[in-house]
Amino acid sequence: MGDLSQQIIGYDLWHLELPVTSRRDHGIGSVEGVCEVVVLRLTSEDGSQGYGEASPWSVFTGTPEATYAALNRYLRPLVMGARVADRAAIMARAAYAVAHCTEAKAALEAALLDLTGRISAVPVWALLGGKCRDAIPLSCSIANPDFAQDIELLARLQDDGVRIVKLKTGFKDHAFDIMRLEYLAKHYPQFSVRVDYNQGLSIEDAPAQVRNVASFNPDFIEQPVRAHHYGMMAKLRQMTDVPLLADESVFGPEDMERAAREGICDGVSIKIMKSGGLVRGQTVARMAAAHGLSAYGGDMFEAGLAHLAGTHMIAATPEITLGCEFYQASYFLAEDILEEPFEVKRGQVIVPDTPGLGGKPDEAKLNHYAVSKAVAA
Ligand SMILES: [Mg+2]
Repeated sequence: MGDLSQQIIGYDLWHLELPVTSRRDHGIGSVEGVCEVVVLRLTSEDGSQGYGEASPWSVFTGTPEATYAALNRYLRPLVMGARVADRAAIMARAAYAVAHCTEAKAALEAALLDLTGRISAVPVWALLGGKCRDAIPLSCSIANPDFAQDIELLARLQDDGVRIVKLKTGFKDHAFDIMRLEYLAKHYPQFSVRVDYNQGLSIEDAPAQVRNVASFNPDFIEQPVRAHHYGMMAKLRQMTDVPLLADESVFGPEDMERAAREGICDGVSIKIMKSGGLVRGQTVARMAAAHGLSAYGGDMFEAGLAHLAGTHMIAATPEITLGCEFYQASYFLAEDILEEPFEVKRGQVIVPDTPGLGGKPDEAKLNHYAVSKAVAA
């Protein structure tokens, strides 16, 4: 066992713009050209290092600028000079040191867990309660406004053994959504299909469109209306037998409590970038299970470092039963930032068993893609 009483003496940051290979349209906005993430590196007295990634999206969780400022200005003083052992105390203070900025808090906790795991020579899943699975089924999103490109992606997914797709809907028109559902039913009947509106429907259109989409019997229909339209979510849930998932409506445990009380969903998408960390993500999953609700391992537009953090959380959380969507490192980014590729085999994300997060970024890539950084000389 390494020495967890040592202090954290290094705190380096990179704000990255990572080129992407295709356009992604979601109900609430689009990503084209690049996606932006912030990487944090902590160093302890013996030279051990831990990394964490924040993956904000301005229309969903927050901006990369706010994330960078939260980490650089408001969270840094809580961490520098603190003991590695005091992760829970640091996170408790971080919760109130800056409002919101859940992606920054997720990056901080991931970096603290990575550092602790590397010093202690245990994987992060061991620090989160132990492992309940060795692999996690992968879902890849179909979200390109040019469906011809997604038809090529579907063939690649088929070859790679991926058998879950999530159709992003509600960003163009209803006919486009129905056409793509018909295509999937005809050409890929072996695929498990999920539908995600990302808040794309108006409350006027939602009942009829959700009813039509439900006739294709997807695994679930996710977040058809705006995050705060709890009443309409509850109404849509009553209207259809297809499970309704909440994503943007439920960030952390506080939202989960209200969502369960108001009966807005049958399940919830859990993302460390929404919950503000892995431990709070586990809390959301356990609250959902206690209310008889299912849980899915969602993500933002992430690089492989954030995928690794999510993978360890799901590996240690039996309540998250619907797989994950950590596809961006393999199917979206022009180049991931990890030294070794994020491991996906036959449609399953492989849970690492090596210390910490089980992978780290290539520093040359961090410096190459950085648009700003705060790195000690
Ligand atoms: Mg979603």
